[in-house]
Amino acid sequence: MLKAGILIIVVFMTIQSSGQTDFAYLRKDMVTTQLKGRDITDSNTLRAMGTVKRHEFVPKRVQHLAYTDGPLSIGHAQTISQPYIVAYMTQQLKPKPHHRVLEIGTGSGYQAAVLAEIVDTVYTIEIVEPLGIKAKECLDRLGYDNIITKIGDGYQGWLEHAPFDAIIVTAGIKNVPPALLDQLAEGGRLIIPLGTTFNMHLMLYTKKNGKIKQKERLAVSFVPFIRG
Ligand code: SAH
Repeated sequence: MLKAGILIIVVFMTIQSSGQTDFAYLRKDMVTTQLKGRDITDSNTLRAMGTVKRHEFVPKRVQHLAYTDGPLSIGHAQTISQPYIVAYMTQQLKPKPHHRVLEIGTGSGYQAAVLAEIVDTVYTIEIVEPLGIKAKECLDRLGYDNIITKIGDGYQGWLEHAPFDAIIVTAGIKNVPPALLDQLAEGGRLIIPLGTTFNMHLMLYTKKNGKIKQKERLAVSFVPFIRG
């Protein structure tokens, strides 16, 4: 009993004196409980979620919460999505190593980094300039050289790099921007939160033989899409 007590104290003092949070442990636990423990089964998605240092993408004051089961504020009235939602949307896109992906709503850059662990190139657009600048700095610092960032309104997509194998929109909007469907490659997939603040669903669009099909997925809550 006494021995066990001493051991606990020593372990506690070691953690205290190192002054560091074991983010790798927290990340592994997040993958096991929040993702595998739900319906995330895609191996690429699980590997990417287990690799990307989410704590690098959130403000210092909430870094200790980086691997908890919810969204976090990143300033400018915007949020980094709950890890499960990031994984869910990634899995819905069925990303493959040769894919080129477009993201509308860079935010912290976290979702872009998760995709960049799997696919060839990620193009990402952010409308709030300070967020776009900060995300680019973070992605550069972490060595993500396959993510191309841009500051601007993503409503019209990014024509010069189209078509995309997958498109992800991370802000809620009433209707799907037509340009995004146009810029989807044959066989491509687009995931987007559609609706209003209190009634929003992730919608999945697929393009086959030039035809668009639409399926409703999870009920979600996202920050509103800003029209430039
Ligand atoms: N994917 C982000 C979460 C972003 S929250 C992450 O992993 O952290 C949604 C983001 O979409 C916000 O940063 C918001 O500023 C941005 N956004 C909203 N409307 C936009 C638009 N029209 N074009 C580009 N970005 C937009």
